[in-house]
Amino acid sequence: MSSSNSKVVLITGTSSGIGLATAVSAARAGWKTVATLRDPSRSEALRKAADEAGVELDIRRLDVTDESSIVSTVEGVLADHGQLDAVINNAGAGHLGTMENESVAEVRKVMEVNFFGVVQVSKVAMAHLRASRGRLITITSVGGVVGQPFNEAYCAAKFAAEGYMESLAPVAAAHGVSVCVVEPGAVATEFVTNVGVDPQRAVAEAGSYGPQLSAYLNRTIAQFSDGAQSAEGVADSVIEALTAPEPAFRIQTSDWARGFVATKLSDLDGSAVLGLTNGWVV
Ligand code: NAP
Repeated sequence: MSSSNSKVVLITGTSSGIGLATAVSAARAGWKTVATLRDPSRSEALRKAADEAGVELDIRRLDVTDESSIVSTVEGVLADHGQLDAVINNAGAGHLGTMENESVAEVRKVMEVNFFGVVQVSKVAMAHLRASRGRLITITSVGGVVGQPFNEAYCAAKFAAEGYMESLAPVAAAHGVSVCVVEPGAVATEFVTNVGVDPQRAVAEAGSYGPQLSAYLNRTIAQFSDGAQSAEGVADSVIEALTAPEPAFRIQTSDWARGFVATKLSDLDGSAVLGLTNGWVV
């Protein structure tokens, strides 16, 4: 059984992957863990992982695109636990596509989950985090710093989340709330499967972008099969953001992620990043 503290953390998107691993790790670290998912009928893996780890979770419904579910879940947490000390914006979804081949409606949908979802959850939680002098943590991605081919919409949403949080950080800090972003590279979760892309079909349907998409997919498939980090490894970084006395604003979850993000952060004219990613589509 976990050691106990009185602090309460709410995590979004805990049905699988990083959210599930983080929920178990937070509970193991002694946090009262509110593990939320948009579809409670998909909680089986989460319950099993918690049982195996010998920890208790408070499992509740929350869809980050449904404001009323956010408000009622946060109100329920306050009513039952009396406080909220940390929020981990983890829910997100990948998307593959390029401008000419996708509709603006598809781009908006990617922004809804990966950006506006983060904003809505954070906004509802903020007054409570101010009261607890708590933490607001968002799982972005290395794709929140480095733009990647066929990920225009996804990277735009993650860039937006990073810009939002970087801008909010000093304002929140003035009220005792620490804000940080956690940036994984490739992680072995349901993420790629959930994008729902059949590579052969996607290339066939990509028209004149087929050769570039094929090269990109080959590289990405190799990257995920050779060097993907575990969800538990990412969870360790999230727990660092949750518990370190003074967490950094930007936390990469692996050496690979640190190196990749560093390319961008010292790339004043954009040539280093494009020198790298141009090679991904040939
Ligand atoms: P995952 O296994 O697909 O998990 C994504 C989670 O988000 C699932 O629980 C999913 O729930 C949930 N979700 C999706 N839409 C939601 C909504 N509207 N409301 C609430 N929950 C929703 O992928 P993951 O790798 O753990 O992803 C977690 C986070 O890490 C995401 O923000 C992702 O962008 C980021 N990330 C992942 C990688 C990677 O390579 N895996 C790399 C960098 C960053 P359902 O089961 O209901 O779909």
